[in-house]
Amino acid sequence: MRGSAVVVYRAAAVRDAAGCCARPGAVAVAGGRVVAAGEVGAVCGEVGERSGAGQVDLGECLLMPALVNAHAHLGLSAVGPRAYGGAFTGWLREVMELGPRTREAERAAVRRGAVMSIEHGVGWIGDIAGSVGAAADRAESGLGGVSYLECFGIGLHEAEAVERLTRDFSEGDGEGSIGLQPHAPYSCGLGLYREAAGLAARGVGACARGVGLCTHLAETTEEVRFVRDGDGPFAEMLRAIGRWDQTIRGTGQHPVDWLAPVLAERRWLLAHCNYIEGSHIGVLAGCGASVVYCPVASDYFGHHRPDEGVRHRYREMIEGGVNVCLGTDSVVCQPVGAVQPLGVLGAMRHLYRRDGVSPELLLRMATVNGIAGLAGEGVLGPEAAGAATLGAGVPARLIAVGIDAGDSADPLEQVLINNEPARLVTGVDCHA
Ligand SMILES: [Zn+2]
Repeated sequence: MRGSAVVVYRAAAVRDAAGCCARPGAVAVAGGRVVAAGEVGAVCGEVGERSGAGQVDLGECLLMPALVNAHAHLGLSAVGPRAYGGAFTGWLREVMELGPRTREAERAAVRRGAVMSIEHGVGWIGDIAGSVGAAADRAESGLGGVSYLECFGIGLHEAEAVERLTRDFSEGDGEGSIGLQPHAPYSCGLGLYREAAGLAARGVGACARGVGLCTHLAETTEEVRFVRDGDGPFAEMLRAIGRWDQTIRGTGQHPVDWLAPVLAERRWLLAHCNYIEGSHIGVLAGCGASVVYCPVASDYFGHHRPDEGVRHRYREMIEGGVNVCLGTDSVVCQPVGAVQPLGVLGAMRHLYRRDGVSPELLLRMATVNGIAGLAGEGVLGPEAAGAATLGAGVPARLIAVGIDAGDSADPLEQVLINNEPARLVTGVDCHA
């Protein structure tokens, strides 16, 4: 790093979730990495004579690390936001109709979604990908994170799904941080989950340390019913799409208890967990699982009904030792006209306004917790250390969000109250 030109970015405020908090503040960057961050005088003192190379005054904004969207479906970027009709299985079938029909169409949507994500202030993503090619496109876009290769197979279709997954996975070279995602307990049998966990542990190509694992879990009451009783709307949906057979049965268990033995094998990233019991929090914490809460999507589907005592247990999970991060889910579930629908600021603002969550906790969930969720037991490698903070030596992916510098209110709180968009300052060469 010594010898490369230093640029000092000054802003009305600077903040990360690892203890950096200054107003006004500065971040010095050289060779694409953070050299120093904090009070302007201290940062300039630290870079000394090298600071002559460049000064950028960003003005009235809060400068932060780019955020982590731990659960997204970039392949649906071309569909756009749509109203929810009130029945999840009907919605799923509609999205299956509207989604990309070819691998090329999916890859085009992923490329477009990746650029949008970067423009919306996201530096790292947990994307659900339909092919190894889509994962490569995401990585090439400059967006960090993991692309989880999705698979489906239940009942008599499980064996062929295992074969297909093994073949598709082996096509990857491990570059671009690929992971695996059995879709959900109503579309994947336990054998497919086990096989995915085994493949993930073995890794592929350059990923000898293994790859990450993700799934949708306990997302709806219909899923809880399906796993327990083997009937309801998901059984009807499987019949309608020709995927039902007599080997598919209720297990008498909640999805978390049903999957617990496989969750214990590796550190999973679990999308949603909208409907879990208090007893499951210890199970998830014991497995080292991370939960991605997508509050905007969750509310879109009607999973937040405080009058009926139905609310997400994310705060209890955090207290119970579960790493909880934030995600958007797909753009389909975002409000029409949302500011930056593929950004994570919308999720932070939603929880701040709905539940009064502390700004500090929201920033942790949107940065370091997201990195921990994507990294699992180290699948992101050494680059994950300190990622999404302003620590010295960390890759500098920086975003700025407008604030009123004359307002004495906490700059991070201002960002959660206002609707200013995030903008990328430095750190990602966007090659669409
Ligand atoms: Zn999802």
